[in-house]
Amino acid sequence: MSAKKKIIRQKFRDAVFKRDQNKCVICKQTEQLEVHHITDRTLMPNGGYVKENGISLCHSHLEIAEEHHHTNGERCEDGFKPAQLYNKIGSNYDKALEASKRLDRHS
Ligand SMILES: [Zn+2]
Repeated sequence: MSAKKKIIRQKFRDAVFKRDQNKCVICKQTEQLEVHHITDRTLMPNGGYVKENGISLCHSHLEIAEEHHHTNGERCEDGFKPAQLYNKIGSNYDKALEASKRLDRHS
């Protein structure tokens, strides 16, 4: 991985955890926190490494949320649909898309 990509990913994680106060947005626990890409990284410009597309989830809630990506959106538990997750962080697909497009301008 290039140094630049590494920095973008680190900044992404830091910004998401900070905004979510180092808690799972669903259950508020602070252990085993990970960052979930609300729209899959393969579907976003520059991988969607922006806080508008990231949400802090504990490991078990991350697994539930990831099911959406693993099944191409076919299976998704209510409460974990992308629009619902965006809503929890005050973002939406368009905001995430616009911010992602701007990522490559920082080079
Ligand atoms: Zn949780």
